[in-house]
Amino acid sequence: MASSAQSPHFYLNPGKSNSFQSKAYKQRNVNFYWNFGIRRLFLRKSQGLSVLSSSSSSTHFSNSQLHGLCANGKLEEAMKLLNSMQELRVAVDEDVFVALVRLCEWKRAQEEGSKVYSIALSSMSSLGVELGNAFLAMFVRFGNLVDAWYVFGKMSERNLFSWNVLVGGYAKQGYFDEAMCLYHRMLWVGGVKPDVYTFPCVLRTCGGIPDLARGKEVHVHVVRYGYELDIDVVNALITMYVKCGDVKSARLLFDRMPRRDIISWNAMISGYFENGMCHEGLELFFAMRGLSVDPDLMTLTSVISACELLGDRRLGRDIHAYVITTGFAVDISVCNSLTQMYLNAGSWREAEKLFSRMERKDIVSWTTMISGYEYNFLPDKAIDTYRMMDQDSVKPDEITVAAVLSACATLGDLDTGVELHKLAIKARLISYVIVANNLINMYSKCKCIDKALDIFHNIPRKNVISWTSIIAGLRLNNRCFEALIFLRQMKMTLQPNAITLTAALAACARIGALMCGKEIHAHVLRTGVGLDDFLPNALLDMYVRCGRMNTAWSQFNSQKKDVTSWNILLTGYSERGQGSMVVELFDRMVKSRVRPDEITFISLLCGCSKSQMVRQGLMYFSKMEDYGVTPNLKHYACVVDLLGRAGELQEAHKFIQKMPVTPDPAVWGALLNACRIHHKIDLGELSAQHIFELDKKSVGYYILLCNLYADCGKWREVAKVRRMMKENGLTVDAGCSWVEVKGKVHAFLSDDKYHPQTKEINTVLEGFYEKMSEVGLTKSSESSSMDETEISRDEIFCGHSERKAIAFGLINTVPGMPIWVTKNLSMCENCHDTVKFISKTVRREISVRDAEHFHHFKDGECSCGD
Ligand SMILES: [Zn+2]
Ligand SMILES: [Zn+2]
Repeated sequence: MASSAQSPHFYLNPGKSNSFQSKAYKQRNVNFYWNFGIRRLFLRKSQGLSVLSSSSSSTHFSNSQLHGLCANGKLEEAMKLLNSMQELRVAVDEDVFVALVRLCEWKRAQEEGSKVYSIALSSMSSLGVELGNAFLAMFVRFGNLVDAWYVFGKMSERNLFSWNVLVGGYAKQGYFDEAMCLYHRMLWVGGVKPDVYTFPCVLRTCGGIPDLARGKEVHVHVVRYGYELDIDVVNALITMYVKCGDVKSARLLFDRMPRRDIISWNAMISGYFENGMCHEGLELFFAMRGLSVDPDLMTLTSVISACELLGDRRLGRDIHAYVITTGFAVDISVCNSLTQMYLNAGSWREAEKLFSRMERKDIVSWTTMISGYEYNFLPDKAIDTYRMMDQDSVKPDEITVAAVLSACATLGDLDTGVELHKLAIKARLISYVIVANNLINMYSKCKCIDKALDIFHNIPRKNVISWTSIIAGLRLNNRCFEALIFLRQMKMTLQPNAITLTAALAACARIGALMCGKEIHAHVLRTGVGLDDFLPNALLDMYVRCGRMNTAWSQFNSQKKDVTSWNILLTGYSERGQGSMVVELFDRMVKSRVRPDEITFISLLCGCSKSQMVRQGLMYFSKMEDYGVTPNLKHYACVVDLLGRAGELQEAHKFIQKMPVTPDPAVWGALLNACRIHHKIDLGELSAQHIFELDKKSVGYYILLCNLYADCGKWREVAKVRRMMKENGLTVDAGCSWVEVKGKVHAFLSDDKYHPQTKEINTVLEGFYEKMSEVGLTKSSESSSMDETEISRDEIFCGHSERKAIAFGLINTVPGMPIWVTKNLSMCENCHDTVKFISKTVRREISVRDAEHFHHFKDGECSCGD
């Protein structure tokens, strides 16, 4: 507040009076001097003396000429003259220097200013008040506090202006302690009394730290020196109090003011808003209107942003109507604030109306609208608006580009994303880290992780968001191993935040990196980062997915339990096929008054389905509405799975036909999967037909169909499906398994021949195969019918990588230790049998989490019951 009084450039003529000289007055003064000089020149000439012959007259002439140039704003010529005067060793008068310095300040000519400074320093032993002040003001204006400080020290004498300028300069640049220190020296060492210009600067300092105790001290000075009625000083006091959070004292001052200006009102109103007291602020605003005080732009924009904070739609509309009556509705910044307010409250249609009616739109208007659409989950509209902006030939800035990229990421719109990438390079916006971060996010979500890595490596100053984006991106693209390496690298320079850690925990969960997950847990406990946020659930999820149910339970018991926490546990037990546990947990959840949501019912139905609890599952499905959850397609798919797995295929088919909504590929996929389990080719083919009408790109359905054919021995059909996949350009991810040994995660690819322990691993596996065939467990011995296609099918769809991981675990851990393996594809039957056999032979517990299930092998049995 009272900003006009704080700026040093208003002290044009300190020491004489507080009112600064008008420009015209200065001009007259100079003209007088100039004319005087000319007249004297004529006089001399008429006396028959050459100008150059008299050194004193030439000095005077040059000085007045230089002064004249300064008065007329001719800096370049003035500098030339100064140079030639230097060469001719003509002394420059102090007041001429002053004029020149002020011209440099006015023209923001830093280089020239420094030159004048060095000339002045070399020709004078100490600086007089007026010249010193001119230099001070100039250096402060240029933000050069070092030279300002030096000038201050060089001055033989200082006045109030000198102190004011320097205190103001420090305060303006955020050196609050230094400014405060200087103020104290001024009072106690310099013995200078502060004035109306000093207080606003010093009070700004107290507000900026913020330091209420010092602010109160300065308040005492204000009273002592008799400035408590000065409106600018009181405004500054109010601002200081609200910045220090003492709204009460501010209001007391405000109420006692005999006279208030708009700055007083704004200070108090926005003070309330800044302290989160939106209602009080609005009340004062209405009081102001009641007193017929006209608000200004500042009042309105702060009131609008308060409405935005409150999210009160009706109030927002009222303010909008009021703004129209004030005539400020044509102001572009007011319109932008209103648009932002509507968008934040979710009233994007209102914002749209306002936006379309704006006569003039600046880059802020466009960007507000684009990011507002993004915020309201309307990425399509965000991109459309960007296109409109482009047609309007408005150049996007870094914020616009970031917002549009975010929309592209949500939509998976790679084409537009690439277009923006090119534009960002051309318009040199790529150097903004916010643009680069959003590019990483966009490329990651569009599955171009290598592009994202490229961008990441080229960011010169990576921030937490850059690292978080790439870690989340790697996880999203199933490169969890690398994601964790990046986390380690990041920690060397930056502290990860809650979002980084959540992404990293998800990566741990994916590959079963328990030790790394525990490290993150320890970090979280140590730093407390995100503990009252979503991190506890991320930790819980990591433990559940790493199969450590005991640790998961202690995590669950120690944290706040929301619906997500319960869902994580429910999903965990559901994946393990422990239907009765899922049902029990569900009952406990309901009893503890946590409202189940859509995901709860998906887990519940899946749990029932895997444990063949058909009646119970159907019962829960029919009761969903009682819990306020409307069944969606996912729940329908669960019911199809429930019926289908239990062999009630016709029922399942009928259920699909009677669905009130059009079934999607997932619903048919559930039936196809059931047909695969029960070897029902006709119905399976029918399901596949429905699926491929809607979705040709999802690999999973082709794999299901292949498996159905293969299990029924229809090899020609298997080959046909494989061809379809090829034609559609679909490939199965390379098989990969991870095993954690001594806290370090090791990855095994299906066709990995380069692992240093490959030889040992193969020897161990061969040993098991031999023993299996001895007891007649190997399929290959019994089936000459076993077609090569089947072998290659298993190799592609399973990859058998978990066998290598298990063998590696056996070699590198002590006997009796359980082995935990995570795998990206589903286990084939063959692998499942092999691992059963291994667990029995070596008497070890082996856990394998594949793409679908959690298998816990013990004594030749698996928890999944297959
Ligand atoms: Zn396999
Ligand atoms: Zn199993």
